[in-house]
Amino acid sequence: MARIVMKFGGTSVGDLDRIRNVAKRVKREVDAGHEVAVVVSAMSGVTNQLVKYCQDLSPLHDAREYDTIVATGEQVTIGLLAIALQTIGVDARSWQGWQIPIRTDDAHSKARIESIEGELLIERMKAGQVPVVAGFQGVGPDNRVTTLGRGGSDLSAVAVAAAVKADRCDIFTDVDGIYTTDPRIVPRARKLERVAYEEMLELASVGAKVLQTRSVELAMKQRVRVQVLSSFEDKPGSLVVDEDEIVEQALVTGVAYSRDEAKVTLRRVPDRPGIAAQVFVPLAAANVNVDMIVQNIGADGSTDMTFTVGKTDLPRAEKVLNDLKATIGFEALLADPDVAKISIVGIGMRSHAGVAATMFGALSEKGINIQVISTSEIKTSVLVGAEYTELAVRALHTAYGLDAPA
Ligand code: ADP
Ligand code: ASP
Ligand code: MG
Repeated sequence: MARIVMKFGGTSVGDLDRIRNVAKRVKREVDAGHEVAVVVSAMSGVTNQLVKYCQDLSPLHDAREYDTIVATGEQVTIGLLAIALQTIGVDARSWQGWQIPIRTDDAHSKARIESIEGELLIERMKAGQVPVVAGFQGVGPDNRVTTLGRGGSDLSAVAVAAAVKADRCDIFTDVDGIYTTDPRIVPRARKLERVAYEEMLELASVGAKVLQTRSVELAMKQRVRVQVLSSFEDKPGSLVVDEDEIVEQALVTGVAYSRDEAKVTLRRVPDRPGIAAQVFVPLAAANVNVDMIVQNIGADGSTDMTFTVGKTDLPRAEKVLNDLKATIGFEALLADPDVAKISIVGIGMRSHAGVAATMFGALSEKGINIQVISTSEIKTSVLVGAEYTELAVRALHTAYGLDAPA
């Protein structure tokens, strides 16, 4: 007998038939004698619609009200799945974040989980009941509903798995595992049987949406065994494991892309000590995450500064900086949302030179201009025009020998 957390994403609970299918899948594990807790997302498309309502009303909306609105999608699916389970004879009950409680900090719209009360869930599971937990949501210090950032149900699942000391956390989704790149963009992407935590963490952080970044971070820290598999087909998925469990280590394990960032350029910033702090400290204070940064050396005492921020943070970033225009002393702020970040990730990059050079060569061969570059130990990212996303991903996938045999 094992204790399992099963998480189902938006497409997997996209309509009533799919919810019935999920219920059957859960019943199979219950019938096999396992203790099961389930975490679900909102029906696919619902969270996007809710986010759009907020943005259409006001781009600079109150994040606490945003959370109140966007957390509702999961309230619907937990209730529906609980009913679907009860209908086929499985004892089940729905749980919203505040009922467990899943406590978070107060960073509304991207809150961090601080604690989860696991005892009550364990008690129910031992008694044969299936807790159906709302993903993506928690409760803040002031008892208001919080959400964990887009894709956050993965994090809820891993956190619940850690809190109930589950033997494994199965993430059921609309692909049958983790691939060398998004199989929807590169049909010749290959499925990886095993991926190291560290590589998955990098891949997720640069856009591989199959797992949310913080969920991988937490799984790595708490040693939760995560498996990604299909909710529609019965076949083995991909396991996220320790580095030493990977037998054959490729130079580059995967290619990822993100269209979720926007480029900001500050023209003619005074080139003086402390200027970076003057720009980035207020952005951090406004909860704007800055990712890639480039700054040139100015010849005439001024310089252009370019960086990327999350696309949804762009209106706030523009407001913060324009309010400080006189203090910082830049000439103009240019915002470009039509960019994509393309990244290669691989533990093999640690020990091999020339890996990034292959990347630049492959992109130049396709005539793709690189706007910004950033690197870390096991990753290189470039910013390109959004229209080149697919072309760049395919070119790199081929350049690093990742294509499946034709
Ligand atoms: P869910 O709603 O189940 O959480 P997501 O849409 O968040 O599903 O994540 C699954 C999607 O991730 C897939 O449909 C696929 O297009 C995308 N994806 C991106 N990169 C990868 C990758 N390397 N391997 C598998 N899927 C990927
Ligand atoms: N429903 C939320 C979202 O779309 C959380 C999730 O699906 O993981 O971002
Ligand atoms: Mg997801």
